[in-house]
Amino acid sequence: MTRKERAAIVDRRLAEHYPEPPIPLHHRDAFTLLVAVMLSAHTTDKSVNNVTPTLFAAADTAEKMSRLPVAEIQRIIRPVGLSPTKAKNLAAMAQLLMARHGGEVPQSFEALEALPGVGHKTAGVVLTQAFGVPAFPVDTHIHRLAQRWGLSDGRSVEQTERDLKAVFPVERWSKLHLQFIYYGREHCSARGCDGRTCGICREVFPERKRAKATRQA
Ligand code: SF4
Repeated sequence: MTRKERAAIVDRRLAEHYPEPPIPLHHRDAFTLLVAVMLSAHTTDKSVNNVTPTLFAAADTAEKMSRLPVAEIQRIIRPVGLSPTKAKNLAAMAQLLMARHGGEVPQSFEALEALPGVGHKTAGVVLTQAFGVPAFPVDTHIHRLAQRWGLSDGRSVEQTERDLKAVFPVERWSKLHLQFIYYGREHCSARGCDGRTCGICREVFPERKRAKATRQA
């Protein structure tokens, strides 16, 4: 079976599980999404969603965030962890948005990745979820599942992103990004599985089943 054939199976199975996957980070617009994604590094979406109502009540625009003292941002976001760095980055990001982009979130990888604390994955999530720009940001779940399902050799997240973009139609990238993450969190965790739990591995690697049956015969 080719990678594209395996990808078609994965696409169908994920669409059955998550026909309309919601964006898990609560936000109101591109700026609040950017803030939420920056906060989500090394923590859960739930803990981010717990602090953002308070943070956005204090500052829900670049202009307001740029005027909020770093110490105050840090106090509010402390439960998400890494708060000194994240608070500093949020303040600097908002100040740069004011200085370079009139307080608006830019719509290009280059401009987003130039913001403090914004890497390629964060930029991709904002571009695809806030602006509908085709992107396939790869997180740890997507990286793991792409390897398990034989869609990438998993050498690096950069390679995984290239491999996934090569096997899925561009109009499916945004939704698949979310569907992979939900599936990784809810059904196919990093903990061990013998490849028989949910049936996707058996469907994308039918030869493994045959090899096992042959060995047993
Ligand atoms: S069979 Fe196991 S490893 Fe394969 S996709 Fe399902 S849960 Fe993940």
